Amino acid sequence: MNSKELFEESKKFIPGGVNSPVRAFKGVGGTPFFVKSASGCNLISCDGEKFTDFVCSWGPAIFGHSHPRIKAAIARALENGTSFGAPCELELEMAKLINGLIPCAEMVRMTNSGTEAAMSAVRLARGFTKRDLIVKFAGCYHGHADSLLVKAGSGAATFGNPDSAGVPADFAKLTRVLPFNDFDAAEECFSQEGERIAAVILEAFPANAGLILPKENFLKKLRELCSKHGAVLIFDEVITGFRLGLGGAQKLAGVIPDLCVLGKIIGGGLPVGAFAGRREIMERLSPVGPVYQAGTLSGNPLAMAAGAEALKMIIELDPYAELKRKSDFITSALRQAAKERGVALQVPQAESLFSIFFNENPVENFEGALKSSTALYAKHFKYCLERGVYIAPSAFEVSFMSLAHDGASLERAAEVMASSIKNL
Ligand SMILES: *Cc1c(COP(=O)(O)O)cnc(C)c1O
Repeated sequence: MNSKELFEESKKFIPGGVNSPVRAFKGVGGTPFFVKSASGCNLISCDGEKFTDFVCSWGPAIFGHSHPRIKAAIARALENGTSFGAPCELELEMAKLINGLIPCAEMVRMTNSGTEAAMSAVRLARGFTKRDLIVKFAGCYHGHADSLLVKAGSGAATFGNPDSAGVPADFAKLTRVLPFNDFDAAEECFSQEGERIAAVILEAFPANAGLILPKENFLKKLRELCSKHGAVLIFDEVITGFRLGLGGAQKLAGVIPDLCVLGKIIGGGLPVGAFAGRREIMERLSPVGPVYQAGTLSGNPLAMAAGAEALKMIIELDPYAELKRKSDFITSALRQAAKERGVALQVPQAESLFSIFFNENPVENFEGALKSSTALYAKHFKYCLERGVYIAPSAFEVSFMSLAHDGASLERAAEVMASSIKNL
């Protein structure tokens, strides 16, 4: 079956034909391609087409797809069995690696997805503080647990509005949603309900609404605010962990949260999540503490082997300067094309994360991001895809660079993206 036939057939058995919504290309139109195989910086579709991939499995493929070392690590682990329901040494290895690299990570608990990890971190913060309210920021994604699937309604710091059907309004009422980069709003929120706030959770560099960069001192001031009021500061580093450098966003920004959430890269391409943080808080978790959290497949040996190998490669190769250079090459080509053509294009970048907004102004928060043209993005996406360059199928997602993106692929991709901008 070709992609079109597979998609039609899938829609009969899987809602919308996909197991995660963005894959359906609803934001950009057209039919998604089905992947037959992936290797290096390329995806090969069931139609025999080859795409240079800037989605990179949404981040995990920092060394590109099917890396021989990661495959070998999985193969070695596979010899010993796929799941034990009892602890294994690979879990200790993983916890030690994370502990050694992520500043806040005195202790670590593994999960099977970022969603689970974020949900558990919030429960832990509530159990630790014995408070119920949580504060999040509009446009930040923390997976799809009920209390986190809430963004700003029209009135920002008032009661959150559920973002999804099926989230009880009573749950959403415990979530306060603030505009990112607006410290005054956070201070105001704390001045009214500070003693009821268990946690502030955020992506320090929001990368699920396109890429939004934190303003100077915003994170530092949030840190101080949380400390002052006894609230737990949680950085969701599912994307930024091991993407913005060895110590994640917290190291880059020089702001250490109480807890952080990890995922994506730390699974080496296998399903994974983790949350980590201060010992005093982490030891409130079951079985030492009263906050329950568990997982049949948590710490799965194959995922631990793949993730640990990825982290060891990161330590050995220190890939960040090269990743940034490759990303700079693409983003400067985009900026140059926009300038030549007079297109209002914003190209925010943090290390090897970048996105584009068809927007007159630099984007500082979710509201600003939503003013970008999705029609122009869809046109750009289609132009690139037809020429073998795959960028995120949504105007509000980021692009990821991998170490496997070679010079020739990058030059061709830059050329395609630039001519797309000039042809808009
Ligand atoms: C992807 C992501 C999650 C959710 O992780 P899953 O493994 O998809 O459940 C949470 N937070 C952020 C910042 C993410 O990018």
